[in-house]
Amino acid sequence: MSGRPSDTTLKSAAPDVRPVVLPTADDALVISGGTLVELHPPRMGKADVLIAGGSIVQVGGDMPGGIPHVDASGCFVTPAFTNAHTHLYMSLSCGMPPPPSQPRTLADVLQSVWWALDKALDDDLVHTAALVGAANAAKAGAAVVIDHHSSPRAIEGSLDRVEAALDEVGIRGVLCYETSDRDGRGRRDGGLRENRRFLDKVRAGRSRHRALVGAHAPMTLNDDTLDALRDLATSHEVGIHIHVAEDLTDHLDAERIRNTSLSERLRRLGLARKGTVVAHGVQLDPESAAEITDAGGWVATTTRSNMAHAVGVGSLASPRVALGTDGVDGDMLGEARAHFYRHTEARDGLARDTLARIVAGQRMSAELFGEQLAEELGAPSSRIVRGARADLLVVEYEPMTPMTPSNLIDHVVRGWRHARVRDNLVGGKHVVRDGVLVHVDERELTQRARAAAGRLWERMHGYY
Ligand SMILES: [Zn+2]
Repeated sequence: MSGRPSDTTLKSAAPDVRPVVLPTADDALVISGGTLVELHPPRMGKADVLIAGGSIVQVGGDMPGGIPHVDASGCFVTPAFTNAHTHLYMSLSCGMPPPPSQPRTLADVLQSVWWALDKALDDDLVHTAALVGAANAAKAGAAVVIDHHSSPRAIEGSLDRVEAALDEVGIRGVLCYETSDRDGRGRRDGGLRENRRFLDKVRAGRSRHRALVGAHAPMTLNDDTLDALRDLATSHEVGIHIHVAEDLTDHLDAERIRNTSLSERLRRLGLARKGTVVAHGVQLDPESAAEITDAGGWVATTTRSNMAHAVGVGSLASPRVALGTDGVDGDMLGEARAHFYRHTEARDGLARDTLARIVAGQRMSAELFGEQLAEELGAPSSRIVRGARADLLVVEYEPMTPMTPSNLIDHVVRGWRHARVRDNLVGGKHVVRDGVLVHVDERELTQRARAAAGRLWERMHGYY
């Protein structure tokens, strides 16, 4: 199943059978019998994995006895996904009634759909939506979501509600509040305050998650707000999570209304900094993008959302471009599939980067969580090696054709359509076991979510 042993097999690429001290942690676990798969560079090999204290302690070789096993026979074991840009608050939008008039542009869609939805969120809906989004993400194999939250009529404490939902499900998040001038000065100030409050909480070690400075998009940010966001990011030494150039509106707004250029506004914002996450960048010029990625920032590309909003194809080429679902759902494999086909259609040479972009997300979360691993590990969180974080999936998939490192992309894009995330272990602990959430009662969540969605859709009528 795993092809011939070669220099691309995991065991030969990363021999890691040094004798280890028997882990004393009571959370030690062996994942046994599975075929390990690293997506990029593609590597495969059969080996058992010993986990303890949230990390991988041994790959291959004889496993110490007396430790519980997770039987992964006939399955693949692969690092869990990071969703590089999403909106958990949109998780109750599936199937909601269309707006009164058909939106024609991105600005129309924002105003008539998403800004009606976010205004209708109250404290309880923020929490329920985040819970549904986190549950879906975990079941689809995400260990980390980079979330961008907006609830302009329930700002204060909203990031704590998102955090609580992530904790209930058991995955990790990098959170921010979407600061904007679109709802007036008071709510802009509220957004800045909520970002600062949660940044302080993370800095004080009172959260297991991470925080960025959140902002909507240049088109809804006044110059003094750019300054305030920049100062907040500087004082907390974090990046800024913002939509940029999803279509041409950010450029036109800068040139026609503010008499400058988008790239000048991005410099004023101080966007080029370590940890920044730029969502979309469909119309972002390559020079501005390079400034951001060279400084240690990331771009989250969101193929399905871009298709849904008819804004074109993001063609930025960089190892610091990762995949995000932009609130469409929590399905990173679905996103990867769309990325592969959309870029194949566009003939821009980026389809073959699909797996590298899943791995970019894993590297991104490792950086944002400050996981310092030995240099030789290369891309932490995307490798199954001693010392890497034990965010691992057990994937049920019976390939009907030979599967090797050289044809892995085809199996992931086409074959894994029929795969199932059986287990999702975050920090070595099950959050999904045999396809079912471990910590959340799914039946209860479904009932609660349906009731909440009905209430949300009703409330939205007031904001169309
Ligand atoms: Zn977005």
